[in-house]
Amino acid sequence: MGARNTRTSHAHNHLTEVVSALPHAVNPLALSLNENPFPPLPGVRSALAHCVDAANRYPEFLPERLRALIADHLGVQTEQVVIGSGATGVIMQVLGAVTSPGDRMVMTLPTFDGYPIFAQMARLTSVTVALDEHGHHDLEAMAEAAGRARVVVVCRPHNPTGTIEPAADIERFLQRVPQDTVVLLDEAYVEFLAPEHRLDALELVRRFPNVVVVRTFSKAYGLAGLRIGYGFCAPALARRLWTMQLPFGVGASGLVAVAASYDAECQLQQRIRMIASERRYLRMRLRSMGVYSTDGHANFVYLPGNGGHPWRELFADTGLQIRDYANGAVRITIGNRQSTRAVLRALAPIATR
Ligand code: PMP
Repeated sequence: MGARNTRTSHAHNHLTEVVSALPHAVNPLALSLNENPFPPLPGVRSALAHCVDAANRYPEFLPERLRALIADHLGVQTEQVVIGSGATGVIMQVLGAVTSPGDRMVMTLPTFDGYPIFAQMARLTSVTVALDEHGHHDLEAMAEAAGRARVVVVCRPHNPTGTIEPAADIERFLQRVPQDTVVLLDEAYVEFLAPEHRLDALELVRRFPNVVVVRTFSKAYGLAGLRIGYGFCAPALARRLWTMQLPFGVGASGLVAVAASYDAECQLQQRIRMIASERRYLRMRLRSMGVYSTDGHANFVYLPGNGGHPWRELFADTGLQIRDYANGAVRITIGNRQSTRAVLRALAPIATR
């Protein structure tokens, strides 16, 4: 009796501890991971209850229905789409399908922190090409390096700078990259782009059989915790990638949350517009304080290190979580207006100097 009570109370403690350690949906200080500041939409929350009720059941063996749903939404063939545990899972799937240990993978410096880790996991050699002082890619140098590599990564918008390369430059770059080098066109933040800045990704995958466009539900869709990402490319390459699709690897929550999100497209678009306008407001305020930020088109701003201003130290005692880089730069995710005010307060000592 005593023993059972002890076990019960232990189990209870586990849950209490775990739940109290979960991140809060709304936290104006959490600006280091480029998460969405909004909690899940009501429609998505209530839809998720359906998969909780059948948690004893496996999801589909391979995520055929999610694949078809996304393909239909995009306007591509179902067999052109692969699904992953976040964009992260998709990228690892690509590396698993097209690389061998020792191959080279070209990326910029700095880039999304994941890329050097993914290269290491796939036993690839990372080749880095530095961004210029405004955070732009040297696409000429990248195309050159791609000639001796298996994979080359272009993020558009880029992380951490938020910058975008013009469509014509991307086009020229793709023309130059050999067809047996796979181009990962990482569009994790594409939904934040104004329509005039979007690439015609469907047309690109039609014309370039070596391009994989990678996207995620973690950012604009605000579902980072559910781990849903996808890639799309030419059918022949997609067939190779689909062979690496992990059996039972995508939970039913992914399918349900994506369907509910597509049904709530208007509300999502409104949130995306709010985040984009908050970014414009923060950049405008920074400019008026004399603080330079790169031409950001995603849900974050990037202040390059300039040697003089110790950005990281300004945030040290504010409680704000931001991402800082070895080169002295910081990247700050766009949150709500309260977050923006806290960021501006942290930077105020610089403005009055
Ligand atoms: N690509 C880029 C450029 C990113 O910034 C991120 C997340 N920070 C990812 C991919 C991976 O996102 P996820 O695995 O959550 O989809």
